[in-house]
Amino acid sequence: MSKLLKSIFYGSMQITGLFELMRRLNSKKALVLTYHGVLETGSENYVNRNCVSKEMFEKQMHWLKKKYRPVHLCELVQMIKGEKMLLENVVAVTFDDGFHNNFKVAFPVLQKYGIPATIFVTTDFIGTKGAKLWTERIDSIIYSATIRRLRLPIDDAEGTFDISTPENKIKSSDRIRKLLKSKSRSERERHIMMLEKQIDGVRNFLDEMDERYAFLQWDEISQMAGSGLIEIGSHTCSHSILSTLSHDDVKAELLNAKIALEAQLNRPCTLFSYPNGTEKDFSRRDKNILQETGYAAAFSQIDGLNRVGDDVFALKRVNIVRSPNFPFFLSKITGVWGKIKRILN
Ligand SMILES: [Zn+2]
Repeated sequence: MSKLLKSIFYGSMQITGLFELMRRLNSKKALVLTYHGVLETGSENYVNRNCVSKEMFEKQMHWLKKKYRPVHLCELVQMIKGEKMLLENVVAVTFDDGFHNNFKVAFPVLQKYGIPATIFVTTDFIGTKGAKLWTERIDSIIYSATIRRLRLPIDDAEGTFDISTPENKIKSSDRIRKLLKSKSRSERERHIMMLEKQIDGVRNFLDEMDERYAFLQWDEISQMAGSGLIEIGSHTCSHSILSTLSHDDVKAELLNAKIALEAQLNRPCTLFSYPNGTEKDFSRRDKNILQETGYAAAFSQIDGLNRVGDDVFALKRVNIVRSPNFPFFLSKITGVWGKIKRILN
């Protein structure tokens, strides 16, 4: 859908009062939002598609404060478990991956509105500069490539990926990341190296991308945790998708991340979010290991709202992506977008 059509489509839904009606109908369900980055500036380039602008983030937080009840994520979990009374229109804000811009740009806005949030950090990346999650390495290779086509043999088939236009770059990046998601870490690494070899060398655009890709430092994490507003959860050590790992590797990812966070912050770490987080990315086995290693709840990236009694190791979230369209945000948080998507599928 074009930007203009999208804006008319969601804008007219807002005028009819549909979002307000849905917010009321869903008031006894718990909403959890996923953010990745919040950027002070940030172009509309596709590498920024998971990062909202500061201006839009502020507008969204203002709305949550006015229409919802923002709570700490651990409180929301207690409500789902039935240990605490469920508040109406309860919402919790979360961030995945642990980017520096969460501290620099989002944290002051959260403080301004007094909105608690949870940041799920990938512990191997804390304090690193210029390191990237594998998905983002693929994005930046494709973004900086000036050739028209990339070749990548996957499962014995020679794949060709058109990267001749910005639109095709997005499509090819999505396709390649989808194909590599199920591979082991070493296999994935081998494929990414093959991609890197085909372009003139990844253009060094770290300065330009620093706001987007830099990870949190330990002192920033401590400062946020110390404020009482921010909870720190685990998002594994290396951002590997659990379903691609052996039992022992899952255990190591979950336990080592927890130990690192608890040692640095001197408080229990009981909340977890699954890397990637779709139905295929975790199983009963992983939920059991989470429980054995002392986690109390885990969050997926399956779209939807949560009810009292739901499985606390597969809680749903609504992913907030970059969009200049505020009614689109309303369609997501009220569950309207999810319904449209399910109907279309
Ligand atoms: Zn992630």
